[in-house]
Amino acid sequence: MIERSNIKMSRHNFDTKDFIDNYTYEGSDLGANYANDKTVFKVWAPTAENVEICLYKYGSEEEAGDKEEDLLRKILMNKESRGVWTWEEAGDIEGIYYTFLVTVDGITRETADPYSKACGVNGKRSMVIDLGKTNPSGWDKDEMNAECAKHPVIYELHIGDFSNDPYSGISDEYRGKYLAFTDSSSTAGNEGKFPTCINYLKSLGITYVHLLPTFDYGSVDETGKIKNQFNWGYDPVNYNVPEGSYSTNAKDGHVRVNEFKQMVMALHNAGIGVIMDVVYNHTFNMDSVFQKTVPDYYYRCSEDGVASNGSGCGNDTASEREMYRRYMIDSVCYWAKEYHIDGFRFDLMGLHDTQTLNEIRESLDKLNNGKRILMYGEPWAAAETTWMRDVTPAIPSNVRSLDPRIAIFCDRARDGIKGHVFEAKGRGYVNGDEKESEEMKKKIMSCVCAWSGQGADENEISAIAPSQIINYVSAHDDWTLWDKLVTSVKDGEDFGRKYSDLLQMNKMAAGIIMTSLGTPFFQAGEEFARTKNGCDNSYNSSPELNQLDWKRAMEYESLIDYYKYMIKLRKSLPVIERTDEAAAECIHFIETEDAVIGFVLEDDNSDKAWKKAVVYYNPYEKDVEVKLPEGRWSLLTDGYNCFEPEKSDILEKEIVLKPRSVTVLYYDKK
Ligand code: CA
Repeated sequence: MIERSNIKMSRHNFDTKDFIDNYTYEGSDLGANYANDKTVFKVWAPTAENVEICLYKYGSEEEAGDKEEDLLRKILMNKESRGVWTWEEAGDIEGIYYTFLVTVDGITRETADPYSKACGVNGKRSMVIDLGKTNPSGWDKDEMNAECAKHPVIYELHIGDFSNDPYSGISDEYRGKYLAFTDSSSTAGNEGKFPTCINYLKSLGITYVHLLPTFDYGSVDETGKIKNQFNWGYDPVNYNVPEGSYSTNAKDGHVRVNEFKQMVMALHNAGIGVIMDVVYNHTFNMDSVFQKTVPDYYYRCSEDGVASNGSGCGNDTASEREMYRRYMIDSVCYWAKEYHIDGFRFDLMGLHDTQTLNEIRESLDKLNNGKRILMYGEPWAAAETTWMRDVTPAIPSNVRSLDPRIAIFCDRARDGIKGHVFEAKGRGYVNGDEKESEEMKKKIMSCVCAWSGQGADENEISAIAPSQIINYVSAHDDWTLWDKLVTSVKDGEDFGRKYSDLLQMNKMAAGIIMTSLGTPFFQAGEEFARTKNGCDNSYNSSPELNQLDWKRAMEYESLIDYYKYMIKLRKSLPVIERTDEAAAECIHFIETEDAVIGFVLEDDNSDKAWKKAVVYYNPYEKDVEVKLPEGRWSLLTDGYNCFEPEKSDILEKEIVLKPRSVTVLYYDKK
């Protein structure tokens, strides 16, 4: 996916007490600190013999061409304590671009600032920026709606995918860009009927959008010279700068910062929080700002100098080293403060140590409304990594070493519900054969309990509380849910066909997630049977294959309606949104035959519409009759139809569960 490095590395003395004691810098002022009368630059380069700063007029060599006035000044920086080099430039230099020339072992390398807040096109040069100038009007009052934050339902979205479809109703100029989010009244084909983009998300009822990487990444050229480029963006270049290709002008460093903020504000105005997908575990390549500033410090390598490759990208970063840990903390907090970000999703979190993640949690908690900022990640790695210190990796078996408010994606439930992500024919609970194993039943019951309390499994996942679990069946990786169903059940024949049995399986999968503890999450378009024609890794496929197809959304509106209902229902059910350690004990499983699962949700102290409800999962292709717990029950959904509570049927004693269905009833006191 990304070029392998053959750079020779060394561990140097970076892990000695002497180096750590003498060169760990605790200040929070690395980078360019702008004021209108002077700018103070600071860069941490403890192994450098020499550091110079270059001030430029243009954001890239290309724009400068052979114009002599491009390089404005080149100055030797001052070496201060703890390996920090500084320079104070007098006057107002807002909008000036800069780089550092770092000389180590006689070799001089030009690099952008690891702490860049803005940069020129393609991120080769940093820019001095007055961030106050980039704030849209009303920004000082911008924040996520507190009520929405209480009901997290996460929607995973790529910025380009959102509006790349010409039928999205978004103007040509904004299509595929940050600014597409600022159109709050778009409709499919501009026909004024079917809402799209933000207008659509509002009607869906999700409360958080999780954006695939939106920091500056390297795989897409920002000059616009290459048409129809696409990438998910898991290849970081400048961690603290928004990606330029989503802006309307990547050459002016202010524009992407301002447009990103406009996007955040538009989502907040729609009652939706913004989660960033952050990729601190590797960089685009080893020709990075880190490697050029402090060679070998930021990356892991073996004793014999082979770069560690647990990320599959050939350059694992070292969260266990003090200054990279510090960098991750600073970077996350910067996005939270400057861009009002409401959550962070850590890519390959299994490559980070629990101490770093817990320290990030602690630092976020100290911010205004910081406690409600979400943190979660992938508790795995692509392969084994070489740790530079003794650490506790953030993998499922160590989930209890993580703060209770750091969650992990639960692959057990994901694969249990619809079959393994790597096995095309692999089936699960909703698309399986009639005969289901005890093991599968146990897995789904654990999913319902978010692997906590009675649902904890020492051999699988044993979470402290539901707050540690993200429950999901689809994400950008691997097949879409629809494609997985077509692949496993229909031998991959005709992804475009509207199979009614698969639609029911899709509903059932979503129904399980929405009636389970833990935070629900789904890939954008899962709710309208999104297909990539069976492609299981579309990271650099065409925009057309990846984009949300708004015509398809219209065609699958009944599936969307089911999601809407279940999202709304979740907010009214007792227990299911609880995140505390005791939540799973308020779920009472009912004795049921074979693979059918039933459970009562009961919480007398609940502030929800109902204090008691019952849920059944029937994975069979046929009707199954079950006994209802004592009392009168009102039917909310039978997995096919959804009812308004006041119009629902009252049932007692027994109920016939429809084939492949999630049935929910509430306890009717009358
Ligand atoms: Ca970029």
